[in-house]
Amino acid sequence: MSARLQICRACDEEITDLADAIAVAHELGNSGPGWTVWAHREHADDVELIDPVLLRIMTRIWVAQAAAQ
Ligand SMILES: [Zn+2]
Repeated sequence: MSARLQICRACDEEITDLADAIAVAHELGNSGPGWTVWAHREHADDVELIDPVLLRIMTRIWVAQAAAQ
């Protein structure tokens, strides 16, 4: 899996520090697995589409991905 630019949903800036990236949602694509919606840690609270349950799931996935790198 190649690294993909992570853009903050709240401010539209690239998240350059993975430690600062929070997965706030997952959107389904027309084909393939879809993509993760990210936000800066500071901005995660500003993203209205946060689902606490989904956030917990995605955070777990993100942690697993980070550990695999
Ligand atoms: Zn941001």
